[in-house]
Amino acid sequence: MANMSPQKNEMPTQAPLVRKNNFAEVALGYTEEQAIDEAKRCLNCKHRPCTAGCPVSVNIPEFIAEVAKGDFEAAYRIISATNSLPAVCGRVCPQENQCEGRCVRGIKGEPVAIGRLERFVADWHNANAEKSVQKPQSNGHKVAVVGSGPSGLACAGDLAKKGYDVTVFEALHTPGGVLVYGIPEFRLPKTIVAKEIDSLKSMGVTIAANTVVGRTVSVDELMSDEGFEAVFIGSGAGLPRFMNIPGENLKGVYSANEYLTRVNLMKAYLPDSQTPIYKAKKVAVVGGGNVAMDAARSALRLGAEEVYIVYRRSMEELPARAEEVEHAKEEGVIFRLLTNPIEINPDENGFVKSMTCVEMELGEPDASGRRKPVVKENSEFELECDCVIMSIGTSPNPLIKSTTAGLETHKWGGIIVEEQTGKTSKDGVYAGGDAVTGAATVILAMGAGKAAAKAIDEYLTQK
Ligand code: FAD
Ligand code: SF4
Ligand code: SF4
Repeated sequence: MANMSPQKNEMPTQAPLVRKNNFAEVALGYTEEQAIDEAKRCLNCKHRPCTAGCPVSVNIPEFIAEVAKGDFEAAYRIISATNSLPAVCGRVCPQENQCEGRCVRGIKGEPVAIGRLERFVADWHNANAEKSVQKPQSNGHKVAVVGSGPSGLACAGDLAKKGYDVTVFEALHTPGGVLVYGIPEFRLPKTIVAKEIDSLKSMGVTIAANTVVGRTVSVDELMSDEGFEAVFIGSGAGLPRFMNIPGENLKGVYSANEYLTRVNLMKAYLPDSQTPIYKAKKVAVVGGGNVAMDAARSALRLGAEEVYIVYRRSMEELPARAEEVEHAKEEGVIFRLLTNPIEINPDENGFVKSMTCVEMELGEPDASGRRKPVVKENSEFELECDCVIMSIGTSPNPLIKSTTAGLETHKWGGIIVEEQTGKTSKDGVYAGGDAVTGAATVILAMGAGKAAAKAIDEYLTQK
């Protein structure tokens, strides 16, 4: 019988006062009973608006129907036909703007919890299904993938399934991109990412870590000397931006990328970690996206007494996922909205002592359609803090562009590609994910990696 409750089944989570002191996963996942009950809220709409809202077109009504029947493995097969990282996407997709944002149950109540169901199915499969990944027969073609984030992994996976000999070149010592160095353990356990990478390896994909393409080897050398017939560039957008205000070089100022890399990849939160990190008492995180929420919640877990999100627009414009904002609030993160820093002030030893801020108000909409923040007159004030984490965006690193002949990029650094295929200005070279769009989402990066894999396959079979 259909479940006509206007509300989603609640997600069991660690209590806020407990979880703010540990790095274990916050959301604990549905039980089988909760998943089946939630699946029964789906109306199996013939026009499938939810699927149209998913960037990789997961067959949502079909997989949910299998969950409702209790056939979780059948549900997994349906999801994994189009989504190679369901345990990741179920956890981190901004569902409210994508699949769930289009769900008809959302008109008079809450949408079906599509993301939570996807996570449940993927976790169930990982815990229960027999693993027998077959190494596909080689087709004799070699493809290089630069970067092991979601775009690179998705591209490598799809090509490996078709028999390509794929090598993923990764600058860091651990593969996974932002999934391992950016998004914290309490939101995305690293064992999940490691499982995905293990299954790629079982399909024959080689991961060459500690290899900076553009330094260790160039894209041109990969093609001319190493025998790679095509290259996919999925090198992300890891170069942090700063505000260029006085005091940004003081001790105790981090970019969010550096702070999170120390915490996640270098495990600074573990008691026996050798990674230095400043355990501040009052932390101000400047920005309002997922990255800012992750930095703020990590700072709390490292023992900060007060953590502020300093954001120049209002709650309505906050770009972070709704669930992360909710979790941050529950854990005690303080939101200083309509506030912008203009200077970071030192103490007598050159450490951060405070931030001078101004209050903002929202004016007319700008080019992005969002109301432009303007400074309120005579609103300057001091915010006491001993650490500032800048989280105002990132852009692609110029290294690959500067070392690859004939690769065209936009002025801001994004690689220029053909929209449907990811084909760049250089023959045999494709690109996708944040390296093309600037900082975006896991699922869009994955979708771009898959589209490029299809185009590379067509290119090499027609060659
Ligand atoms: P990346 O994940 O950035 O991977 C690129 C990889 O390429 C990296 O491993 C990098 O080391 C490597 N690389 C770079 N240059 C070279 C080189 N020259 N040679 C070799 N390797 C190289 N998205 C969501 O959908 N939901 C979220 O909740 C969310 N939260 C986020 C939280 C944080 C802290 C951050 C930083 C991002 C978040 N995002 C989120 C965005 C999302 O993670 C990215 O859009 C996505 O990871 C982009 O994937 P990608 O494959 O393009 O690049
Ligand atoms: Fe929704 Fe993301 Fe899953 Fe697509 S991949 S159905 S957008 S959670
Ligand atoms: Fe089910 Fe919502 Fe999709 Fe309709 S729109 S099929 S109710 S998930």
